[in-house]
Amino acid sequence: MIKFKKGDTVKITSGKDKGRGGKIESIFPEESKVLIPGINMYKKHVKGSGEQKGGIYDLPRPISFSKIALVCPKCKKNTRVGFKFVDDQKVRICKKCKKEINTK
Ligand SMILES: [Zn+2]
Repeated sequence: MIKFKKGDTVKITSGKDKGRGGKIESIFPEESKVLIPGINMYKKHVKGSGEQKGGIYDLPRPISFSKIALVCPKCKKNTRVGFKFVDDQKVRICKKCKKEINTK
């Protein structure tokens, strides 16, 4: 089971964006990476064609699971994710406050 979900608030724990935060926009489980708008930006050179204007665009690049920490929506702390079973459903819990973490 993947620790992170789309819409989770996370904090960057290493790399050039360390200390910054954001919301997960998409997840790439095979690569263990997530995409967070505004994080891990790089400059992409785009050739113009038709309506599309050419130039240099700042785009976010997916960042590794190992470089992010979940921010618990309940206690607002950086936390590790645990799991427990509720009515046969596996749910995520915050290891600090033990509350369930649900991201809608
Ligand atoms: Zn918590």
